[in-house]
Amino acid sequence: MADFSLSSVPDLPLDLWVGGVERAASDGGRFDVLDPATGKVVASVANGTVDDAMACVEAADAAAASWAATAPRERAEILRRAFELMTERADEIAHLISLENGKALPDARGETAYAAEFFRWYAEEAVRASGTVMTAPSGANRILVLQQPVGIAVLVTPWNFPAAMATRKIGPALAAGCTVILKPASDTPLTALLMAKVLADAGVPEGVVSVLPARRSGAVVSAMVHDPRVRKLSFTGSTEVGRVLLKEAADQVVNCSMELGGNAPFLVFEDADLDAAIDGAMIAKMRNAGEACTAANRFYVHADVAEEFSSRLAERMRALTVGPGTADDTQVGPLVNEESAAKVDELVRGAVSAGARVVLGGERPDREGFYYSPTVLLDVPRGADILGEEIFGPVAPVLTFTDEDDAIAMANDTEYGLVSYVYTRDLARGLRVSERLDAGMVGLNRGLVSDPAAPFGGTKQSGIGREGGHEGMLDYMESKYVAVSW
Ligand code: NAD
Repeated sequence: MADFSLSSVPDLPLDLWVGGVERAASDGGRFDVLDPATGKVVASVANGTVDDAMACVEAADAAAASWAATAPRERAEILRRAFELMTERADEIAHLISLENGKALPDARGETAYAAEFFRWYAEEAVRASGTVMTAPSGANRILVLQQPVGIAVLVTPWNFPAAMATRKIGPALAAGCTVILKPASDTPLTALLMAKVLADAGVPEGVVSVLPARRSGAVVSAMVHDPRVRKLSFTGSTEVGRVLLKEAADQVVNCSMELGGNAPFLVFEDADLDAAIDGAMIAKMRNAGEACTAANRFYVHADVAEEFSSRLAERMRALTVGPGTADDTQVGPLVNEESAAKVDELVRGAVSAGARVVLGGERPDREGFYYSPTVLLDVPRGADILGEEIFGPVAPVLTFTDEDDAIAMANDTEYGLVSYVYTRDLARGLRVSERLDAGMVGLNRGLVSDPAAPFGGTKQSGIGREGGHEGMLDYMESKYVAVSW
């Protein structure tokens, strides 16, 4: 799609989407969306207020009972149509993601397919919500357990996967019978607004889905989670904001799912298939230019293969074409904003001054936009800040180990526990190490774990709950136990 611009998506809503009705913000406010490749304004979007948030809750409340009572088959068919519409519009959606987020088109296309899959998977799951019946141990009664929708769900999503983080929540929530209000990240509201249009075109009734772009995220989300009609908060974003929201949710004891930050270790043992490990490292590190919660943040490589691994990784990263995400040959786009690029630069400088060796990159390229050069650092000292924080950029710090226990101890030495990667040809070692890694997910000889059919989520400060798979729908349901006299 040459010369993509907003006019290429004529049905894209730029106002608030309140239960299916497009309207301006209550105070008429708007905010700008920037193209990360140029820093220039590409759109102006309505800026939701607390009053608008309450209007979304009204709409969700008015539709809640009828949506919960809608036949699962009908909900499934709507989700299936949404999957088909996303698939038909995949090129447009990918360009829109790339325009507002900056990611390279191949990544944006990958995200679009992944995002659509959540609608297909939950179309298939919607008709399989089942409870249990059992005989009480006393034999005197029966225990009937029903699964019912938890109620109105507020969904808060980050900018790094503007489509997939939205569909990963909307899909299971609608399948379960919940009405939803999505508050997208203010850097990337456009894709979320297009998702609202796709869902309406697929047949979602009025009131069931609202999308509320808002710069004043704290105020609008807080107002919603303090409304007793809201029963669920599903948040994906930083651990820092997650902590704030858990405290907010405590007042009304709102059911929470938290998909938070990560600090993924990537372990390469001396017996690993190095070709596979390099391929995996490229995906785990360079997908989305490293702006992923699952991004490999620390590489622990056995000393026997560390030099070879680092130089081959650097060679592959050097060959990548860096440029505007929407250009056809780009493989690495800019980072989302100036703050992100500056933070990556600061972490790299800190590591280098602590003694790390720059094998590749190590600087911001001299061009407009929020770019950072693909970077490989070797001999990073164990206490360096870069190992303790999410880098969220195309930077691979490499450390060495010689002992399995030491590698596991270093891998687990973080407050995060989202995902870990392990490369070894020894199956017993692979399984043993996977069990000992303190993470919600492990990529065993795989650099990509995300799959709509699998439960995605973390331990420790990476979060609470799971998205995707059968478990993902249970996060939007309550078990109701009925004691049946016999
Ligand atoms: P963020 O925490 O800054 O923002 C996430 C969302 O919360 C945005 O919509 C933002 O507008 C909103 N928000 C910010 N402050 C708020 C407040 N006080 N009250 C209510 N809402 C508020 O995160 P980000 O920078 O958009 O995204 C990057 C982070 O997301 C990284 O930490 C990354 O690891 C994490 N992430 C996690 C997963 C996962 O599944 N675990 C997936 C993607 C991203």
